Amino acid sequence: MARSVSRRDVLGMFGFGAAALSLRASEVAFPKGAIIRTILRDLKPEALGGGATLFHEHMSLAPDFMPRWIAFSRPGGRGNAAPPTAAAPAQTFFMQDLDLMVAELKAAAAEGVSCIADGGHADMGRDLGFLKQLSEESGMPIVAGAGYYSNPFYPEEIKTWSDDQIAQALVHQVKTQPVGVFGEIGSWDEITDLERKVFRAVAKAHRETNLSIFTHTGIPGKSALEQLDILEGGGVKTDRIVIGHLGNLSDPEVKVHKEICKRGAFIGFDRQGGAGDARQVPMVLALIEAGYAGNLMFSSDLSSGNQLKKNGGAGYAKTVTVWGKKLTEAGVKDDVLHRILVDNPRRFLAFVPKTKRVRS
Ligand SMILES: [Zn+2]
Repeated sequence: MARSVSRRDVLGMFGFGAAALSLRASEVAFPKGAIIRTILRDLKPEALGGGATLFHEHMSLAPDFMPRWIAFSRPGGRGNAAPPTAAAPAQTFFMQDLDLMVAELKAAAAEGVSCIADGGHADMGRDLGFLKQLSEESGMPIVAGAGYYSNPFYPEEIKTWSDDQIAQALVHQVKTQPVGVFGEIGSWDEITDLERKVFRAVAKAHRETNLSIFTHTGIPGKSALEQLDILEGGGVKTDRIVIGHLGNLSDPEVKVHKEICKRGAFIGFDRQGGAGDARQVPMVLALIEAGYAGNLMFSSDLSSGNQLKKNGGAGYAKTVTVWGKKLTEAGVKDDVLHRILVDNPRRFLAFVPKTKRVRS
């Protein structure tokens, strides 16, 4: 059962008093008409208040998604290989258990999370109806993703479609579904031609809709710069882009990370709150030291049941309660952490819509 946490505890975790929170919240300037498009309604970015926004999590995936992903990730299971057969778990998959997920998100809210973006879309088995119910019953604002994931998961038709046809299919998703961001848009570590085509199409669809884009890079992240090149080359402003999973790109000198920050994009340390943290804390410290706190984005990419509160894990708030705590202990100041966990994701997700939201 979730530990009940008072508002004072939450503020204590961030280390702020209420006055500091409201003061900080008003410092971020958003473009006129900018909104954050959650699955239930469009919100003014300021309406999310002072908690953290997690920009890359999973609350709805097909039961066989992770077994398939693991099979593709084995040596020889390359991104363009034929789909392996993978068995779905026997018991109810946690992402299909509404009561359980409502309890998990309520616990995350009590621990300082104000909004969560879900990185799934149809080709990953994401169920919009489930996310909508989850948001209604938990009270957690959820931003749903649009897009196509990565080579092994693409629907068949992508292979024969042109860039334009894919872009139009993406725009159609935005016009017909309550989605608020393109993500996660992935490539295997060696980006494939088909993935390059989808990235070009996402850039085009961005220009027609203004939805921001977050990506998935393979391990260790060889395609990071090429992803940015394609999106920027397609006319996307870099501050609308998060290049994701760059905690995997292990480099104490953080060269590629700095290059991406210098170009104005965000970088995702987005599998946090676990074993990788120890290696990633010094990388984050180096980036803050270099003046790039405004380009950092944190999340946990939660996708397995053993991370849930119910199963003894830290749950959906672990980016705040586990990873954030480690950074504080490493000397990161509260106002810097606030900027990264609260301000950066709101700046990233807020956009001036070019299409009307579909009625939910
Ligand atoms: Zn993900």
